[in-house]
Amino acid sequence: MEIRYIRDMELQAQKAFIEENRLLLQKRFGHPPRAMVKSFGCAQNVNDGEKLAGMLQQMGCSFTESVEEADIAIYNTCAVRENAEQKVFGIIGQATHQKASRREMLIGVCGCMAQQEHVSEKIRKSFPGVDLVFGTHVLHTLPELLHRLLTDEGKKRHRVFETPVCDGVIAEGLPTLREDGVRAGLPIMYGCNNFCTYCVVPLVRGRERSRRSADILAEARQLIADGYKEITLLGQNVNSYGKDLQDDMSFPELLEAVGNLPGDFWVRFMTSHPRDCTRELIDVIARTPKICKHIHLPVQSGSDRVLQAMNRHYTRGQYLDIVRYAREKIPGVSFTSDIIVGFPGETYEEFLETVSLIKEVGYSSLFTFIYSPREGTRAAKMDDPIPAAEKSRWFQQLLEEQKACGMRFYEEEVGSVRRVLCEGKGKLKNGILEGHPVSEGQTVLMGRTERGMVVDFIGAPALIGQFVDVQITTAANWALAGILQTGKE
Ligand code: SAH
Ligand code: SF4
Repeated sequence: MEIRYIRDMELQAQKAFIEENRLLLQKRFGHPPRAMVKSFGCAQNVNDGEKLAGMLQQMGCSFTESVEEADIAIYNTCAVRENAEQKVFGIIGQATHQKASRREMLIGVCGCMAQQEHVSEKIRKSFPGVDLVFGTHVLHTLPELLHRLLTDEGKKRHRVFETPVCDGVIAEGLPTLREDGVRAGLPIMYGCNNFCTYCVVPLVRGRERSRRSADILAEARQLIADGYKEITLLGQNVNSYGKDLQDDMSFPELLEAVGNLPGDFWVRFMTSHPRDCTRELIDVIARTPKICKHIHLPVQSGSDRVLQAMNRHYTRGQYLDIVRYAREKIPGVSFTSDIIVGFPGETYEEFLETVSLIKEVGYSSLFTFIYSPREGTRAAKMDDPIPAAEKSRWFQQLLEEQKACGMRFYEEEVGSVRRVLCEGKGKLKNGILEGHPVSEGQTVLMGRTERGMVVDFIGAPALIGQFVDVQITTAANWALAGILQTGKE
């Protein structure tokens, strides 16, 4: 597939729409517009939402998190599981009620749900209050689509639906208004070629296409210069980065190059598919100090038969080999994973193989999902005889087992001093800092260790966005608490 890179020149056309929209929006609302962009789902989607916000900012928008205050509300949706979809429909329904009293309000729906034909049809028929529906491949044309909406006034059906399957496009140089000032997601590729049988992502995000390493490295340098302390390289399967490029880097080469950029920061990456997680990649993590010693390596199932039915292209044994090699080369490396419970045709015995695998690997945390049939996927056509209540019981069992074996990684941290990136104010939701007095000018802060564990500690708010050393004193409820060792002043 030929990749089409949309760069500055072509984006000039969008810039012209941005300028015109600035005036049109001001006229429509009678004040500078307030926008809300709500992203659901994965880090890739969050990054897309940040690009939408970047374009809206150039159109003169300020931002709000409340739909009641929003003149323009954009829902950037996720289609990976059905319950997320249902939730989004509920939220969109509520947003359209807002329009009863504010007819000029604009509502947009985009992202992976919008890219599915049956969803855009449902919105067309059942949500007349939604003005704009646009798919994942035309995100960079938001200015043009809004312009069409703003200038089509007077036409009978005054709505814009734009969900083409124009795969193979990468838009470079879009403005990005990031939600967070400390940690940044940096997409290195888009789409997925793996076609795991349960997964809708390849259907809504298109085929794999990689950004040029020069563009990625330039963006990483800029993020570091802007003061970001953590960069997460993003892709549905980062290990196949560069396979579609000629004379460019492989993923391990790119990761190492980012990790060797000058500055004080950490590098993470997501998601690494076990199928092509190589020893070379592990060696790079081992020898590059700025790459976090944490690997998110979704296994999905511990049963070879289920893995094959999922089209995952690795066996339990191959997966365990990677884990073993990584443990040998990277002392103290932590693993996290995604698991699907109740894949069509999975038996209880096969489920127990997943339980034994999580015990064997020892994950510091797990993202567990009950299988959700997705339209257009191969698994959705498979026999699925196990009742939902039974799958819920398995799911609970898995959570219990993980609780028993995962907490030990947290308990082992107690007593050590860890470097922590302070991300913001802590919510104290675990209550594990009780008994530690908070004095004037101090507050409860939260951060994460290199291995991805949340730590609460008390310190000055000025520490947000800095690396600090914390002595870990307590472990509970999937979090740690500790006492600040550095930067107390
Ligand atoms: N590209 C990433 C993950 C994308 S989706 C990867 O391959 O790991 C994130 C997670 O959602 C998946 O790892 C899987 O565990 C889960 N998931 C995807 N489709 C699902 C479905 N139909 N039902 C339940 N969970 C699903
Ligand atoms: Fe979905 Fe599999 Fe691609 Fe991940 S690798 S996005 S689970 S198809």
